[in-house]
Amino acid sequence: MRRYGFIAGGAEHLPAAGKYFDTVSPISGETWAQIAECGAADVALAVGAASTCFETVWSRLSPTARGKALLRFAEVIAEHARQIAEIETCDNGKLLKETSAQLGVVPDWFRYFGGLADKIEGRVVPLNGIEAFGMTKYEPLGVVGVITPWNSPVLLTTLAVAPALAAGNTVVIKPSEVASASVLEFALLARKAGLPDGAINVVTGFGEAGAALTDHPDVRQMTFTGGEGIGRRVAAAAAGRVAPTVMELGGKSANIVFADANLDQAEAGVLAGIFGAGGQTCIAGSRTLIQRPVFEAMRARLATRAGRIRLGDPMEATTEMGPLVSADHRKLVVSKIAAAVAGGARLVAGGNAPDRPGYFLEPTIVEAGDAQDYIMQNEVFGPVLALYPFDTEDEAVRIANASPYGLAAGVWSRDVARCHRMVDALKAGTVWVNMYRAMTFNMPFGGFKQSGYGRLNGQEAIMNYLQTKAVWIDRSDRVQDPFSLKTE
Ligand code: NDP
Repeated sequence: MRRYGFIAGGAEHLPAAGKYFDTVSPISGETWAQIAECGAADVALAVGAASTCFETVWSRLSPTARGKALLRFAEVIAEHARQIAEIETCDNGKLLKETSAQLGVVPDWFRYFGGLADKIEGRVVPLNGIEAFGMTKYEPLGVVGVITPWNSPVLLTTLAVAPALAAGNTVVIKPSEVASASVLEFALLARKAGLPDGAINVVTGFGEAGAALTDHPDVRQMTFTGGEGIGRRVAAAAAGRVAPTVMELGGKSANIVFADANLDQAEAGVLAGIFGAGGQTCIAGSRTLIQRPVFEAMRARLATRAGRIRLGDPMEATTEMGPLVSADHRKLVVSKIAAAVAGGARLVAGGNAPDRPGYFLEPTIVEAGDAQDYIMQNEVFGPVLALYPFDTEDEAVRIANASPYGLAAGVWSRDVARCHRMVDALKAGTVWVNMYRAMTFNMPFGGFKQSGYGRLNGQEAIMNYLQTKAVWIDRSDRVQDPFSLKTE
């Protein structure tokens, strides 16, 4: 059985306390690897390695040289994509089809941000009559801490690591204790690609490592992807030492199906939104609002198709939904289905855990009785869809926006003017029109409201990892009045 140490300064280390924990395959329920349980001393070692690399190597490289290093990293990841995808599927139960597709595009993130590395330019600022030359320059922050979840470990890590490195920072990653192995394998490739030791470090563990990283005084920025509860704690701890954060949190995203939509297209998009990855995604379209004339037809279509979804081994090409990530997570999702029914929703499809090995759960659909029902307001993070009817466009907007979250929304209609009105009215960081569940390296991604702040992907992302320096250079040779602020 593979036993993983943590990674600091380009090498694998044994945890100081000598403790490891099991990582369990959700397909078989069996332990397949062991992961280092890092404490504060291990985290300090990793942050120290990242600091040294930042100060002595990475931030001193020319931006073009940094970019080229990331392009080399992209090639090495591409060579190992399939192998890492298999490890990830074994660890979190996601379809190999999906983990392979994700690992297949991870190199593009490093190519895109590697390309941006030498396109970060300051500007000349005219100084309102002051005889000086004014300019801005952008500088990296230092060590960036990255806490990522178990649902798409390497892809979600890449969303932060690629722009952070391109901007000249070094990183310490803390993957989820539920699925750390693929991130460790990914980080081990950095050395193969010739990245300097200490540019990418990984600490693993549970209960201590994340907090130790967040509290470390040399970690100058935290990017957190995960649940809202821990997100608040990370943001508060970082604020306590005035370190900026990016928060990528949960959602209760609405797919809104109008009666004039292409219903075949809408049906497929709604299913992809909630049953893709077993609903274990922040962007899950977990509420579907359906205009009343087509409500019953859509409910019947969705229930029939959900009942036919092929559950099985995520390694098999014909499987449509794998197991949930862990026994605990399935228990949580099952308890939320019970809470939905207790809260007034009616079961339309699924709802049960099949009697077989692995943490499987039937694709589940409920019809909510009220827009404020438990299931319309609470994130499940599993394959559970809530349906609700609406009459008018205004009503659809009101219900969709009546959520503490604002990560994503989908609009299904053939009326172009209406689609534009909906795009304007929906309070969400991403709005997909006649499509759902798409992501690229160059399209900004992030939440409104309690879904978080800051943007990953696209040119916006690199700004999270830079700070602006204002430079004033006198060109008058005059002696300054020591008792007055120079304003003109
Ligand atoms: P959590 O949101 O609970 O975060 C767990 C991670 O945070 C671990 O790496 C943990 O490391 C770290 N952590 C815990 N406490 C602290 C702390 N005080 N300070 C700093 N870091 C800390 O993730 P889960 O994986 O448990 O998921 C829980 C829920 O999050 C899901 O059910 C789902 O609702 C949501 N989620 C959202 C995702 C998204 O993409 N937005 C993705 C996955 C989950 P350590 O224990 O070592 O400190």
